Amino acid sequence: MPHLSDRIANLHESATIKMAQLGRELKAQGHDIISLSLGEPDFVTPKHICEAAKKAIDEGFTFYTAVPGTIELRKAIQAKFKRDNGLDYSPEQIVVSTGAKQSLINVVLCLVNPGEEVIVPAPYWVSYAAMVELAEGKMVNIFTTIDQDFKITPEQLEAAITPKTRMVMFSSPCNPSGSVYTKEELAGLAKVLAKHPEIYVVSDEIYEYINFDGKHESIAQFPEIYNQTITVNGFAKGFAMTGWRVGYIGAPLWIAKACDKLQGQFTSATCSIAQKAAEAALNGDMQPSYDMRDQFHRRRDMVIALLSEIPGLKTNTPPGAFYLFPDVSAYFGKTYNGEVLKDADDLSLYLLAEAHVALVSGAAFGSPECVRISYAASDKQLVEACARLKSALAKLK
Ligand code: PMP
Ligand code: GLU
Repeated sequence: MPHLSDRIANLHESATIKMAQLGRELKAQGHDIISLSLGEPDFVTPKHICEAAKKAIDEGFTFYTAVPGTIELRKAIQAKFKRDNGLDYSPEQIVVSTGAKQSLINVVLCLVNPGEEVIVPAPYWVSYAAMVELAEGKMVNIFTTIDQDFKITPEQLEAAITPKTRMVMFSSPCNPSGSVYTKEELAGLAKVLAKHPEIYVVSDEIYEYINFDGKHESIAQFPEIYNQTITVNGFAKGFAMTGWRVGYIGAPLWIAKACDKLQGQFTSATCSIAQKAAEAALNGDMQPSYDMRDQFHRRRDMVIALLSEIPGLKTNTPPGAFYLFPDVSAYFGKTYNGEVLKDADDLSLYLLAEAHVALVSGAAFGSPECVRISYAASDKQLVEACARLKSALAKLK
């Protein structure tokens, strides 16, 4: 009999990755699937970044590096934190990992003991829940709705804090809602957190450069909580570098040291060549990133306009990331060929089967009244997908 540990047997599979896989399998069987399920830019990595990687290979930069990343890359990240976020992190406070995903799990495993509570505003990125689960912590959600643009208030945060709270974890711009906290909103949350210096704040800023309305704001900018905050970022989204696997944190020194220690036993440093590419990304021309952002902005408006023609979908206008997160609850309880679609899971499976469009159910993100649509796809695919969604939803009685 296979004997899996309880840890892995109880762990939920990533819904984003599962849905993307399901889409790929149907495609391989010859179905014409449009996948709007995976949060992955459809652009290739800018040329100057690829050139830096080629140069690294040609120059034999193929050995293990220091576990928290090369000093050159950490200095480039230090300069980026100062330039873009007004944050002071020394290279010793920076740990580079195999994607922001690893940066996040490092932090959770280093700070959360079994039974301790982690506040995660919902909707949240799927893997936060699994990471807390792996650390045997307890996830405490603060629920938000589309009417509040899926953002929590200081009062909601205060009410969720208990003597067992160890951490608060959120993303802005947010995956899956695309919401972005303003400086004033972050200041309100920081004020609450400053009263609880034993609570750590994990601020996931991986969508920083995909922000259509204004300047990105980091919560670590508020001096009263700088020593409680771990700023997480990465290269996957803003530089179209998902496959390169580079993420990083800026954190209080003792937390950075703990992550370095954990990583030293687990994966060691990320790929030396990818680190050279990441360095070139931060030190190089940002225009390709701005161009991608502008494309996402244009597509967002196009998809919102197309979705507005579908009755029953309630959509807001998210200022960041590349997701829409419409409330689809008006369709719950409707039927197709006598089958009742109870919830967003049923609805997304129906849309995959009937419209051949892969989306992700909001249930995986803690908001079961919604579905997530990634608009990181071509205009042609997006137009076709919206037309298919419209006709499949019109068939529901
Ligand atoms: N945080 C959020 C909010 C994400 O959407 C993702 C998805 N890639 C990650 C972290 C992980 O990024 P990476 O690919 O760098 O591991
Ligand atoms: N973060 C992306 C998403 O939410 C990529 C998939 C993943 O890493 O879970 O779709």
